[in-house]
Amino acid sequence: MFRIAPKDALIPRPTPPPRAAQLGLPDAASLNRLLADADPLQIMRTAHEVIGCNRLAVVSSFGIESAALLKLVADVDPALPVVLLDTGWLFPETLAHRDAVVAKLGLTDVRSIMPDAHKLQQRDPYADLWSTNPDACCALRKIEPLADALTPFTAWVNGRKRYHGGDRTHIPVVEQDGVRLKFNPLARISSADVVAIAKNANLPPHPLTLSKFTSVGCIPCTRRTRPGESVRAGRWSGTGKTECGIHMSTTGIRCSLTVPEALEAGDDQVGAAS
Ligand code: SF4
Repeated sequence: MFRIAPKDALIPRPTPPPRAAQLGLPDAASLNRLLADADPLQIMRTAHEVIGCNRLAVVSSFGIESAALLKLVADVDPALPVVLLDTGWLFPETLAHRDAVVAKLGLTDVRSIMPDAHKLQQRDPYADLWSTNPDACCALRKIEPLADALTPFTAWVNGRKRYHGGDRTHIPVVEQDGVRLKFNPLARISSADVVAIAKNANLPPHPLTLSKFTSVGCIPCTRRTRPGESVRAGRWSGTGKTECGIHMSTTGIRCSLTVPEALEAGDDQVGAAS
């Protein structure tokens, strides 16, 4: 069921023009206006219809609240590619949760993406980069692998919510991410909504929920939250860092298709977009 993505040698290319526009898809601002008041399932369905199942990916951390978004994914299309960035520092409980959620929801294309082994050896030979330069560690273990993993896709979906605060307080429902569109179906949702989705679908809880974790990432950079703290207070606690960076920089540096190839491949999706 799971597969490790092959590490194809990618040749850096100049940033291509916006693929969504080249494919005749609506721009991010138009979609954001269209979906501003839509519920999460409607947003997920629209992303699937407009982009097409072969060009849309979901990125999930399989964290404390991730199952809610994955339930929507399963309701729309359980064959949609789901990307997990397996940094090598994930909690065993997160990997167990991945297996439990996949089994429960019948997701059929979950891709556990690992960092490039050669780059790890070169840039983090002692596996201590998280302590000396966490931004560089996140770039090596998350940002760069995600950019590679998203190469075939025109758009991606993630589970950020405004109630998490910080840089997430004002996220739109749809935004431009380099050459890709990015959908945030849960942007407007509340914590109670997330709980309700999971409860109504009888989804398995992340094992660390019972241990008072409210947000989990990598082992060295996650602690339990204390009463009264924000949901993400246990992430990079005391460092000033609040995000890994995958949402702060564009993932659209690389595209596997040239524009003419993309246009040809996208012909059957243009009608759906209009
Ligand atoms: S969250 Fe911590 S361990 Fe994980 S990639 Fe970022 S700095 Fe490294």
